[in-house]
Amino acid sequence: MTGEAALRIAVLYPEVLGTYGDRGNALVLERRMAWRGEAVEVVDVAVGSTVPTTCDLYLIGGGEDAAQSAALQDLSRTGALADIVSRGVPVLAVCAGLQMLGQTFEVSGGRVVPGLGLLDVTTTRLATRAVGEVVARVDGLPGVPELTGFENHGGGTTLGPDAAPLAQVVSGTGNGAGGTEGALQGSIVATYLHGPVLARNPALADLLLSRATGRDLAPLDLPSVDRLRRERLA
Ligand code: GLN
Repeated sequence: MTGEAALRIAVLYPEVLGTYGDRGNALVLERRMAWRGEAVEVVDVAVGSTVPTTCDLYLIGGGEDAAQSAALQDLSRTGALADIVSRGVPVLAVCAGLQMLGQTFEVSGGRVVPGLGLLDVTTTRLATRAVGEVVARVDGLPGVPELTGFENHGGGTTLGPDAAPLAQVVSGTGNGAGGTEGALQGSIVATYLHGPVLARNPALADLLLSRATGRDLAPLDLPSVDRLRRERLA
């Protein structure tokens, strides 16, 4: 890659929140900008290090209960995300990321952990762990067609009045209550979907990139990505 990085993407704690390949979301964003001839810098933020406040887009992935509790302790200490969200900088939070941004979440064994309170959602335990493919019809994001992804979570999430559903579940579990999947609030897009979700859903990747750059992006013609979507949706 040559030239100045126009866009900086932070990946929070990939060493503990990357169990399901969610760091791939950063690669997808980086590639989609590179194919448009634009440079991206991906900043991996390690647990214990300072969260940079000057990035244009923040990614938080999924993880096991213990890993997500440890990551949360770190994030609660810094307060950086509250500042980032209050400035309207886009954040994509996947699964454990969604739960951590919420009001509280319950880990296996029944302990209730206070979240960051940036997303008006509350997570309790599902009766049965949700594992498998998900298809969901998007509610609140213009131009984003139905979502495909896979889920693997023991927590189920209820939305409070300040959060809107990201999508309605067509098949799979998603949030687990009321047939919704994920949540939207301010600059936060939160989902239970892995895949990585942006590899399976390029329109969502481009929406986040548009928000991060503050401009419309030229469409990309990528038959292999379209084929992957078709195959997964089928
Ligand atoms: N540990 C959380 C749960 O099981 C999140 C799992 C995940 O990120 N895939 O609900």
